[in-house]
Amino acid sequence: MTADFSQLVLAWFDEHGRKTLPWQQNISPYRVWVSEIMLQQTQVATVIPYFERFMARFPGVGDLAAAPIDDVLHHWSGLGYYARARNLHRAAKLVCGRFDGEFPRDIEAMQELPGVGRSTAGAILSLACGQRQTILDGNVKRVLARFHGVDGWPGTAPVLNQLWGLAERYTPAERVANYNQAMMDLGATLCTRSKPACDRCPVGQHCVARRAGEQHRFPGKKPKKALPAKSTQMLLVRDPAGSILLERRPPAGIWGGLWCLPEIEQGSDPLSWCASSVGQQASIGRRLPTRRHTFSHFHLDIAPVEILLKQPGCAVLEPGSRLWYNPRQPENIGLAAPVARLLDEISN
Ligand code: SF4
Repeated sequence: MTADFSQLVLAWFDEHGRKTLPWQQNISPYRVWVSEIMLQQTQVATVIPYFERFMARFPGVGDLAAAPIDDVLHHWSGLGYYARARNLHRAAKLVCGRFDGEFPRDIEAMQELPGVGRSTAGAILSLACGQRQTILDGNVKRVLARFHGVDGWPGTAPVLNQLWGLAERYTPAERVANYNQAMMDLGATLCTRSKPACDRCPVGQHCVARRAGEQHRFPGKKPKKALPAKSTQMLLVRDPAGSILLERRPPAGIWGGLWCLPEIEQGSDPLSWCASSVGQQASIGRRLPTRRHTFSHFHLDIAPVEILLKQPGCAVLEPGSRLWYNPRQPENIGLAAPVARLLDEISN
């Protein structure tokens, strides 16, 4: 079945695979790398406009390495999982500093780049350099887990090792780039999470999950833990000209390096915070409805409170960690997604 599997997948790719994606044009390790990182948690249709804007601004790895992190985060705003953007920036500096601006062609060295794991390294080297390298992203895991009826959650080492073994076994010696692209496409377009189109699947005849009518059982789900909920007040501190105070988050942790609204605990007094942190008396404006933002490991219930200053607040700012943001003339800075939504909401 090994050769048949690859041949069936490749024949399907010739007819139905995606060949016109932006990162498949002018193909280079840099373009494939950026696309792979963007695609890690995000679907192709969402990534395309981000990729194009990113390439227009940072056409080469040197441009990315030389750019300020704020500019990189700004071009990432809305894609989420910002650690990916910070890693991208660090990795670009490493490629320029250690590898003279050329991506390493060795899979081990490639995995030393921040944010590049085994599957991403395999994708870059196979898609951009034609090397015989195996990939195992979420789409490929789903196809193989269903095709072989692999039980268990792929987050555990035994299940993951089993899937890597299968992925390696099927990776052909020839046309690896097409095969890897085909497997990603198969998972993204036919063997989808909720409604797999098994009647159109090139390997459907031998698929264990399909024969058992148990496609939804594979891959096994992560054991569920109820997410805890935290709550916070986000302060929309406005000066008389309408500008809003933003603070930059520390580089590590939630929304690391992005610009956010000041936050205080639920139950704390916004006006006392304002007196001590901005050095002014103020009044409370609107209290906007609470909204929930969900991270991978907790929910955050955000209660936005508008604080109206009577005087301009610029004098007390610390450069680089606070700024006054004019929503009518937005700057190129990376904003946390709920903050960007709130700023839109209040300026409309
Ligand atoms: S037959 Fe269905 S479940 Fe099996 S690999 Fe194909 S699309 Fe996925």
